[in-house]
Amino acid sequence: MGSQWHRSSIVERVVEIISKVGGILCTRHIRQSYRKALKILCIILLFPALLPDSVFAQEIDILLRGGHLIDAKNQINGRMDIAVFKDRIVKVSPSISSEKAKKVIDLNGLYVSPGLIDIHTHVFVGPETGFANGFSSVSPDDFTFKSGVTTVADAGTSGWRNFPLFKQQVIDRSGTRVLAFLNVAGSGMTGFPREEDVNDMDARMTSLVIDQYPGIIVGVKIGHYRGNDWTPFDRAVEAARISDVPLLVECHLPQLPLEGILSRMEEGDIYTHSFCVASDRECLLDEKGKIRPFVAEARKKGIRFDVGHGGGMFHFNVAIAAFRQGLWPDSFGTDLHRISMNSGMKNMLDIMSKYLNIGMSFEEVISRATWNSAQSLKREDLGHLSEGAVADIAVFSIREGKFGFVDAAGYRLDGDRRIETELTIREGRVVYDQNGISARSWLENQTIKF
Ligand SMILES: [Zn+2]
Repeated sequence: MGSQWHRSSIVERVVEIISKVGGILCTRHIRQSYRKALKILCIILLFPALLPDSVFAQEIDILLRGGHLIDAKNQINGRMDIAVFKDRIVKVSPSISSEKAKKVIDLNGLYVSPGLIDIHTHVFVGPETGFANGFSSVSPDDFTFKSGVTTVADAGTSGWRNFPLFKQQVIDRSGTRVLAFLNVAGSGMTGFPREEDVNDMDARMTSLVIDQYPGIIVGVKIGHYRGNDWTPFDRAVEAARISDVPLLVECHLPQLPLEGILSRMEEGDIYTHSFCVASDRECLLDEKGKIRPFVAEARKKGIRFDVGHGGGMFHFNVAIAAFRQGLWPDSFGTDLHRISMNSGMKNMLDIMSKYLNIGMSFEEVISRATWNSAQSLKREDLGHLSEGAVADIAVFSIREGKFGFVDAAGYRLDGDRRIETELTIREGRVVYDQNGISARSWLENQTIKF
């Protein structure tokens, strides 16, 4: 629209200049007719420039051809070509001409999805010990693109006091889109005793900072508290309600009963570390492995359950029992940090492969890793490849063979399929290419001649 207005004003300027020159030679009456005729002539000559780009063959920077697209929002599960221009998806269709494409990437035999969204990470990396501005966090780009991840949400590693530092130090410098849940603890994950100081859990300040960064801070987190009063939890709830964002419960709250926690949560709030047995929380399943009635109620209420695998928070005997009773995760948050990344967790694809081998279809797996996760973060502009959407794209292969998957307690699940990244595109730019499918053969290199 803006470019058309711009072009219209160019026509007006051209008419103006030529009229002035012509007008010198004409009477007033003739000048008016002359001006009208000239305007019509200009419009005819410049007509193509006034039309939107879509009328002509679309210019394409990257044409992804022949891949099997899974896009849950648009209910696509089949072969599609995808055209990317600048940072946007401009066309999705069973067949797109390569006539105007600068680069064509053949994806026959591969799967294409929106860039993956990891809703539980710790990426406030810095020089301190621990997580907040610390060495236990990791730098996002080091781990995301090679796993097909284009967006991460940091799970409350920062609080209202140090979020500006996190933004300046990590968010603004990362190629990965980094979103954040803000910890109700003012300085985030600084460890005991500071992180558990109730006096530094300020709902108003937390909410105030959330409102300063709409779309970047996507929620509030409550994580570590070993006391038995509900004040920290209630303050986190209060901040989330004031700012109308989801509450993320990363449940290291040993003295707070699970039923009370879930009853305080509302539709759209997220419970992470869902499928584990840990000393600092009640399991979602009872002693007989059945889903607790109040957990089923919470699910009905619209509370979302994230994996939050981490180094110690995912056990096959809980996850598989829950899966068989219909309690599937809504997202595959990794709980990525320096310790978990080399444990049984590894990366988001490992969690997705676990669920593929547990019995979830690949379509369901992708749907949870993309559109479902975008909905959990209330960023519905993400997680799909609609025309006009940002070109965050992942390409995968499913390798068949004999594989082993390890949970947080060191137990192995045998499987026959593993999901692997082939290509990751972020805002229309190839940021990871495992097998060089977007690259030209070295034989075409004319810059060095021997
Ligand atoms: Zn975590």
